[in-house]
Order: sequence, then C-alpha cells, then structure tokens
Amino acid sequence: VKAKGRDGVFMFNEEMSNRVESHLEIERLLHFALANNEITLHFQPQFDREGRIIGAESLARWNNPTLGSVSPAQFIPIAEQTGLIVELGHYILETGFRTLREWRDEGICLDQFSINISMRQFTHHAFVEQVEDLVQRYLDEELCHKLIFEITESIVAEDIKRVISVMNRLKESGIRFSMDDFGTGYSSLSYLNRLPLDEIKIDRSFVGALDQKEGDRMMVVTILNMANILKLNIVAEGVETAEQLDFLLRYDCHIFQGYYYSKPLPKEQFDAYYRSRA
Ligand code: C2E
Ligand code: CA
Ligand code: CA
Ligand code: CA
Repeated sequence: VKAKGRDGVFMFNEEMSNRVESHLEIERLLHFALANNEITLHFQPQFDREGRIIGAESLARWNNPTLGSVSPAQFIPIAEQTGLIVELGHYILETGFRTLREWRDEGICLDQFSINISMRQFTHHAFVEQVEDLVQRYLDEELCHKLIFEITESIVAEDIKRVISVMNRLKESGIRFSMDDFGTGYSSLSYLNRLPLDEIKIDRSFVGALDQKEGDRMMVVTILNMANILKLNIVAEGVETAEQLDFLLRYDCHIFQGYYYSKPLPKEQFDAYYRSRA
C-alpha cells in the first residue's frame, strides 16, 4: 500500500517495491511472450435458449515458464499501457480468424464468434486496415458475418464520432459489435442508442448476484427489457447455476455463457465438447 511520508512525499516500503518489480517483470516477459509462443487462445461456448452451441468467445491465455499462468485481467492492461496490445491484438485476431476458418473445414458450424478488442487497440490508427488485411487473408463473406467484436463501455470516453465511424467501416465487412461488461461502466442510454451495436453482454457480476440481490435482479430485468426493445441480442455471461439460467430464460435472455455449461477450452477440447453435444 502506498504510504504518504510526513512531507507528503511517497515513501517506498518493501511491499510496494516488490509489486513494482513484478509489474516490470511481467512487462519485460510479455515482450517475449509472442515470439516464444506463450500466448494461446481458449474458447468458451455460448448457447441458445434450447441449449444448442451457437457461438464462442475467444479468451487469451499466457503461460510463462517463470510466472506460470498469468490472467488476462492482469496482462491485457499491461499490454495496453505499454502499447504491446497492438502487436498482441493482431496476433489474437489472426489466431481467432484462422480458428474460425479451421472450424468450418472441420464441420464445426457456429453462428457467431466473439473476439475481445481493447480500447487502445480499437483506437489505434491502423486498426481498420489491420482487420481488413486479416479478413482478406483468412475469411470470406460467410465467415465475416459470424464475427463479433466485443468492446467495453470505456469506449464512451473516446471521441464518439470517430468510434462510430470505425465501427461502421468494419460493419461494411459484416463484422458485428457487442457491448461487453454491460452495466458496470458509465454507459448512458443515449450512447447505447447512437453506437451501431448488435449485442449486449450482461456483466457476470449481475448474473452472479441474481440469487442474492433484489437490486441486481431488477437491473438484469431492466437490461433485458431494454435490449429487447432496442432489438439487440443479449448474452448473459458467467451463468453458473440452473437457478440463474431459469431466471434469465424467464425474462427472455437469448444467449448464455458460463461455467454452468463450460469453462473456456483449448481448441482441441472445444472441438471434442462441440462434437459430444452435436
Ligand atoms: P471478459 O471479456 O468479461 O471475459 C469473461 C471472463 O469471465 C473470462 O475471464 C472468463 O473465463 C470468465 N468466465 C466465464 N464464465 C464464467 C463463470 O461462469 N464464472 C466465472 N467466475 N467466470 C467466468 P478471463 O478469461 O480470465 O478474462 C478476463 C478478462 O480479460 C476478460 O473479461 C477480458 O476483459 C480480458 N481478455 C481476455 N482475453 C482477451 C483478449 O483476447 N483481448 C482483450 N483485449 N482482452 C481480453
Ligand atoms: Ca468479453
Ligand atoms: Ca464480459
Ligand atoms: Ca469482465
């Protein structure tokens, strides 16, 4: 914890210097992670109301010999701060696109495939060209229409006109957009209405609290009603129990994702899981 000295100067203590060191260590090792093939993608299946697999979300994994497995919640923000996210994001897109293509070749047919896009990656001047280049190399029209880019509410802090223009350029290729972690940030209804969104993901903190907190139940019902009025698809993430699923079904949620069905899986395991349910 940061401790303030008598003169208002920050003083270093042991704990703090360790934390700074490990942050720098992570940052240093992250630079080599791509070249050393330490970053992989896992895929978490998504289900429709009848329990059929209709999609997947791609989630990055980093396994380092020294650090072990590092959570994306930890290394993605570091990649953002250092600008590494541009290179990392490109790798994630390329691997994701290639996987989508492989799935079709293997007879695995999904309606949608989601990739998380960080803010810094989205606002990078070369983002659209990067995506269009990869689309040309790996995808065709059919596969493009399966792609969903997940963005977060932090986008609202950016130049909103530019955000809309980037989204619209990508939508010309058939790519759709989802608002991730919905309800946690500082979204306003007017922004929600202005952005060319196709889907909303209810944050798992609300889904997880469905059985406990009346306020969160109301929040989820309100989001579901609103999404249905705005004709947006709605995904509930972090569904862990049959009770949560029942509640979401009752209030017209469309798509479900969470440990109740499956954790994010490496590709071979995802393929086996898909086949076992087909
Ligand atoms: P997110 O996009 O909100 O992803 C959902 C997180 O919830 C994932 O954590 C997933 O493994 C976890 N999850 C799914 N179902 C359940 C459940 O039933 N219960 C619980 N407790 N958790 C569940 P993960 O994989 O650790 O990713 C954390 C965050 O890191 C993601 O949150 C996303 O913000 C970021 N991230 C992951 N992969 C990428 C990526 O490729 N690019 C970018 N830009 N960010 C990524
Ligand atoms: Ca996500
Ligand atoms: Ca989310
Ligand atoms: Ca999240």
